[in-house]
Amino acid sequence: SRGRRIWVRLTGQAQCNRDGHVVAMHGVLQDVTQSVHAQQASVAVTLRLGSTLASIGEAFATLDPQGCFTFINPACQILINSTGRQLLGQSIWLILDQAGGRLHKEIMAALAGDDVVVFEAFFPRLGVWLEMRAHPFDEGLALYLRDVSDRRQSQEQLLLLQTCISRMNDIVLITEAGSLNEPGPCIVFVNDAFERNTGYRREEVLGQSPRMLQGPLTQRNELDRIRLALENAQPVRAELVNYRKNGQRFLLELEIMPVDSLGRGLTHWIAVGRDITDRKAADDEIEHLAFYDALTQLPNRQLLLSRLRHALSQEHAHPHIGALMFIDLDYFKLLNDTMGHSKGDLLLKRVAARLLSCVRQGDTVARLGGDEFVVMLEDLGNQPETAKAVARTVGEAIRASLSEPYNLGGHAHHGTCSIGITAFSQHDDSIEDLLKQADLAMYQAKAAGRDGLCFFDPGMQAHATTQAALSVDLRQGLRDQEFLLHYQPQVGPVGAMVGVEALLRWRHPQRGIVMPDEFIAHAEESGLIMSLGQWVLETACNQLALWALRPETASLSIAVNVSIRQFRHPEFVELVMHAIKTSGIQARHLKLELTETLLASGLEVTIAKMGMLKEAGVTLSIDDFGIGYSALSNLKHLPIDQLKIDRSFVKDVLTDANDAAIARTIIGLAQSLGLGVIAEGVETDAQRDFLANHGCHCYQGYLFCKPLPIEELEVFMETL
Ligand code: C2E
Ligand code: CA
Ligand code: CA
Repeated sequence: SRGRRIWVRLTGQAQCNRDGHVVAMHGVLQDVTQSVHAQQASVAVTLRLGSTLASIGEAFATLDPQGCFTFINPACQILINSTGRQLLGQSIWLILDQAGGRLHKEIMAALAGDDVVVFEAFFPRLGVWLEMRAHPFDEGLALYLRDVSDRRQSQEQLLLLQTCISRMNDIVLITEAGSLNEPGPCIVFVNDAFERNTGYRREEVLGQSPRMLQGPLTQRNELDRIRLALENAQPVRAELVNYRKNGQRFLLELEIMPVDSLGRGLTHWIAVGRDITDRKAADDEIEHLAFYDALTQLPNRQLLLSRLRHALSQEHAHPHIGALMFIDLDYFKLLNDTMGHSKGDLLLKRVAARLLSCVRQGDTVARLGGDEFVVMLEDLGNQPETAKAVARTVGEAIRASLSEPYNLGGHAHHGTCSIGITAFSQHDDSIEDLLKQADLAMYQAKAAGRDGLCFFDPGMQAHATTQAALSVDLRQGLRDQEFLLHYQPQVGPVGAMVGVEALLRWRHPQRGIVMPDEFIAHAEESGLIMSLGQWVLETACNQLALWALRPETASLSIAVNVSIRQFRHPEFVELVMHAIKTSGIQARHLKLELTETLLASGLEVTIAKMGMLKEAGVTLSIDDFGIGYSALSNLKHLPIDQLKIDRSFVKDVLTDANDAAIARTIIGLAQSLGLGVIAEGVETDAQRDFLANHGCHCYQGYLFCKPLPIEELEVFMETL
């Protein structure tokens, strides 16, 4: 139109015949130029805008009000890993499935409002965290998307790790590696457990050297080991003595790991540790219980055996000799029975301490149980004689130390011990053999009268066998009534017989008459002395009863030897009373010969028992007086009638000035205490005269008469 190009819209209609052929047409033309131009302008804008948006580096998309993609730039297509064709017209939440529906909620909220909405969400399908900024505009939402996975991860992990480390029960300490020497590593992080455990607050330790936790008992060698590992960038485990702020010591079990936090070599050390003071103590305690005696804290049998095994197995260029010593307290059981177990325990503890003071650092003092102690000496050189001499010296020192008086909770106690020693070297017999040997030697020391020391020699093995046989024999002898009493007269001032001492004999079917020295000690040791002693007592009482019937013998007394074990028996007094009562004798005709060892311990009980016997009228004599160690001061408290001077003093009273002095002293003592005195073992007139000159007028000995069987004694009495 007038040379102007226009856009028209043609709307036409065709007329068709029955066959469907067009026969006529009519229509309308409409000028739509203006509308088309307007649309073209808009498309141009859109296209220009689109290319601008497409060039934006940041992922960008638009959504219509229903949340369907209307535009999506290449960066966004890459980010969400889909092409525009797949995305356009699709709703965003179908494409970006997201756990928890957060996306839907946020987008709907953005569409509903006018404000920019920013949120972050994790998209499992993409495996990333996206930050979305939704700007509402007239026709929907403009959406900017950003992958924030890296930030999210590092930030979150840091937070979590920090929380986790802070809350951990283990102590965590991070130090900057620094130079290992000056100025040294410095602490850059500690957790709550560190603060709790050490008592230091974070700000007190940051920047400091971990050395601040160390102290005098921190193990230098352990530190050196750690330092060496660190220098080689090796992880290291250690148990280190550390100190809290208040100075308290604790044992830290820790693992130190090198960290290369920047990928440029070692930057930090992370130390993770636990306070194992309690656990260690518990472990130690358990070990202690298993290997140490609870009462004395000495090694027990198990530990002794293991040390012995070790001593025997050592491979030495020059084999050395060691010694095993069995130490048994004499009459310990009596102390226990009479004074109670608490005093007994106390004594065992004291003995343990004394034993330890007698040996060198490397030697072992063990307790096997009861009153049995063992000392193992090592490295006594390689000369058997020298080694033996050293062992003897130590043994004697122990013997001397253990016989010093004890103060048991205010109660004075005097005791002795018997020691058996055997030497060993690396090529020696088995452990079991060694223990047996030392035990045998100890037994030998006991049999030899206690308070002594004895070395093992192979002959003892045979002796031990004899002893074992002896027990069986003794029992059988008692049952078969193989025992009998011999009586030895005791004479008074004018040579008149005042009584007898009953002395036990054993008529052995094979060995003939066996003397008491050969079996009394064994009977005491094995406990058989109780029945044997009771038999003696009853037999003597029966003899007294018979004598009471005849005027010429009615005034005679019988002295009965009472072994200490018998006396300590709780029912001893009753048993004596019973024997007196059933025989119907006068108690004063029964004289009990008690030994001085009774006075060594358990004095109160001894005095009480003596008191009861005395009360009943029984005569009490102290046998073998002068050879023991009784405190003379105790003597005046005892309700006794007589002291008996041992034959060992009488024997040399004329030739040995010491023995003479002792005999005189005993006589003087008896006189000053108002006690009778009798001397035994008087064999010559000269001995009798010496004693008489010093005031002892009662005697017993071969000078007058040997011990005789009852029939022979009766004959002897008729000759008087
Ligand atoms: P003991 O109580 O010191 O008895 C005195 C010992 O000296 C007796 O030895 C006796 O035979 C001996 N003897 C007597 N006079 C002389 C003498 O002039 N010279 C010498 N050298 N010895 C003389 P025995 O009978 O061998 O008794 C030894 C020990 O056995 C007794 O020593 C006593 O401790 C113990 N014993 C004897 N019988 C019994 C008993 O029935 N019960 C208990 N528990 N021990 C007894
Ligand atoms: Ca006697
Ligand atoms: Ca004697």
